[in-house]
Amino acid sequence: MIYVIALGSNRRHVRHGNPRALIEEALRRLPGTLLLRSDTICTRPLGPSNRTYANAAAVIKSSLMPPALLAGLQGIERDLGRVRSGQAWRTRTMDLDIIFWSEGVWATPPLTIPHKEFRARAFVLVPLSTIVPEWRDPVSGRSVKQLHARLLKPKRKSCP
Ligand code: ADP
Ligand code: MG
Repeated sequence: MIYVIALGSNRRHVRHGNPRALIEEALRRLPGTLLLRSDTICTRPLGPSNRTYANAAAVIKSSLMPPALLAGLQGIERDLGRVRSGQAWRTRTMDLDIIFWSEGVWATPPLTIPHKEFRARAFVLVPLSTIVPEWRDPVSGRSVKQLHARLLKPKRKSCP
């Protein structure tokens, strides 16, 4: 199976260092063969946290099924110092999300592939469009390149 993974960090780790270094460490640990990776970009955070995020994306080949891959990714998050608190906008040393896999849609709670939020997130679509611009989202039918372009287009709204 081929998977597309999004990586994000906005907090340094005592041993592994700053978010950029943490992304490199997570890339080394991804379960499977690393086929492609983007550069790391820095983005302004969403929500009340004011820490700058480092984000990247990668393509891996893995024999794991999605639930096993998610468990593996959560293990890496834990090992890289992520503390789960239930607060959505807490700073985190590492966030690893499965964006796509080669087999289309996976929708068995708690895991959804494609990732539910990725179409609205520039910090996912920007790195993604540098490595898999032609990958087609099986839900919307649009390519990564098209989704990225849509996000940049100003929304047409009618005035009240
Ligand atoms: P977020 O990534 O939205 O900031 P978390 O990393 O805390 O938040 O993820 C919350 C939960 O999202 C995870 O426990 C996981 O079960 C679920 N989840 C659902 N779909 C995915 C996916 N495609 N990739 C990663 N996690 C997912
Ligand atoms: Mg996550």
